[in-house]
Amino acid sequence: MEDLVYCCPQCLQLSRTGIVTDLATIMRSQRRPIFVRCEACGQFNCVMIEDALLTASLDPAGHFIPLDELQTVSSAVEELAA
Ligand SMILES: [Zn+2]
Repeated sequence: MEDLVYCCPQCLQLSRTGIVTDLATIMRSQRRPIFVRCEACGQFNCVMIEDALLTASLDPAGHFIPLDELQTVSSAVEELAA
């Protein structure tokens, strides 16, 4: 299970949603909007799950790792990365 994070549209900082989930769940619910408060600027944002990212896709320095480089075997991963 991984933390779901997103890029805040107001301040462009990464913020956690507080949702802990896994890739399979993301794939099933990626059209669902979530209403979250940015940890960095405090603004409320409505974020589509498909726009959010799992912390599994961040390397230790906080850079994004392309989803196709993660160890997942699913054609839906390519859909998320598109
Ligand atoms: Zn923000």
